[in-house]
Amino acid sequence: MLADKQTPSTVDIGSARIRRLDISCSKTLSTGQYGLSERLRHLTLRLQTSLELDRLLEFFFEEVRHLVPLRALSYRHLGTDFQLQIGEANGFDVSYSLSHSGNCLGELRLFSSRYVADPLLDQLENALDCLLFPLRNALLYRQAVQASLKDPLTGAGNRAAMVQALTRETELSRRHCQAVSIIMLDMDHFKHLNDTYGHQAGDAALKATALLLKEQLRNVDMVFRFGGEEFVLVLSNTGSEAAAVVAERIRAAIQNLFLLVGDKQLQLSASLGCATYQPSESQDDLLRRADQALYQAKRDGRNLIRVASA
Ligand code: GH3
Ligand code: MG
Ligand code: MG
Repeated sequence: MLADKQTPSTVDIGSARIRRLDISCSKTLSTGQYGLSERLRHLTLRLQTSLELDRLLEFFFEEVRHLVPLRALSYRHLGTDFQLQIGEANGFDVSYSLSHSGNCLGELRLFSSRYVADPLLDQLENALDCLLFPLRNALLYRQAVQASLKDPLTGAGNRAAMVQALTRETELSRRHCQAVSIIMLDMDHFKHLNDTYGHQAGDAALKATALLLKEQLRNVDMVFRFGGEEFVLVLSNTGSEAAAVVAERIRAAIQNLFLLVGDKQLQLSASLGCATYQPSESQDDLLRRADQALYQAKRDGRNLIRVASA
């Protein structure tokens, strides 16, 4: 089968299984020191050793280079927001749309310095067949990990994800002497909103707030649901003054966010506390200082921001 860059081929797990059976029964082709079936067995064994997508694709690239003179591989899977490139993507390329039972397993492009035709192309596709099951498992694993770090109601990161992000960001901050700030946000009088308009209205308000927070922040910033009607924002490479500017912008945006419940427009508001990481403090100390600033904002009347002292 010939593939060119205009028309990506589709590789499906069902046909891959049949082809693998064919290979194990067929005569061994000469591929240097090892035969093709020997190479594929080796590839399969390596692919069984990891559930990480980047490791699998690295193994695949390394092993397939024994068969085909590849110079680069690029892969992306939109559903799990994953992409990877190995090597410099130029030269001749073949593209594959990988799938299983109608589920997309990603788009793979392989680049070679020479035009790849049969029988090399056939060998390449035999190797691809070995990749499909491990790839599907790695994608399922990635989806499970992503789900375990997400709050299902708002789509924001959950508390476990926040701990991971703060550990990473405070470590980076210490190593590179780079500021990192957090904002703790608590919706004002949320119990009253629930009691008056119902829990569903409260849920809608939380979803709308999470969306607004994501829209208001840069791509590198992160939004987490800390609990109930509280969110924590982690702002990379951001000092105290810049964090206060962000907090004020968010406060104003929430005040302007009108929630439609039946024929009523509800006005929301939130109180926010900012704290900038001090290299000597723990993650809990940082959260505690942001929380204290937040409660100062509540005491001072709500719909306000306050900045924690160092
Ligand atoms: P304050 O201005 O002092 O923060 O008052 P508050 O009413 O917002 O604070 P309080 O802690 O008394 O109440 C928080 C409310 O948030 C109570 C709880 O039912 C509600 N809440 C927590 N999680 C959810 C949720 O997932 N959905 C809905 N609808 N409500 C929630
Ligand atoms: Mg609260
Ligand atoms: Mg509240």
